[in-house]
Amino acid sequence: MDCLFCKIIAGEIPSSKVYEDDMVYAFNDIDPQAPVHILIIPKEHIASVNEVNESNSAVVAHIFEVAAKLAKEKGLEDGYRIVTNIGDDAGQTVKHLHFHMMGGRSFGWPAG
Ligand code: 5GP
Ligand code: ZN
Repeated sequence: MDCLFCKIIAGEIPSSKVYEDDMVYAFNDIDPQAPVHILIIPKEHIASVNEVNESNSAVVAHIFEVAAKLAKEKGLEDGYRIVTNIGDDAGQTVKHLHFHMMGGRSFGWPAG
């Protein structure tokens, strides 16, 4: 499958790994928008939230467990933001479900 993030998981494209287990992979965004900008992704190819269903949703819960662990490791006690873009209106450029975990600065709201 011609998917950038599947290639990163497979090691075919190099990445700066932050965390890995049997279900998820986390790595630093190549174009960070904050001092900490990690992408947390399922190893299984899921195109976006639109493809999450009762048979594959356990990984989403696990991604948030990993996020909580990484927040402690990265010292984000003042807060951080987790964002997932879905489709063109939200600016999703990579069609493999990913959660942006950003911290180390304050963020405005609403985003965009
Ligand atoms: P999206 O716009 O789909 O929500 O987010 C895609 C993210 O992937 C962007 O923040 C972009 O900087 C990041 N990205 C795109 N290509 C690569 C890459 O080859 N390596 C890494 N580490 N991040 C990438
Ligand atoms: Zn993929």
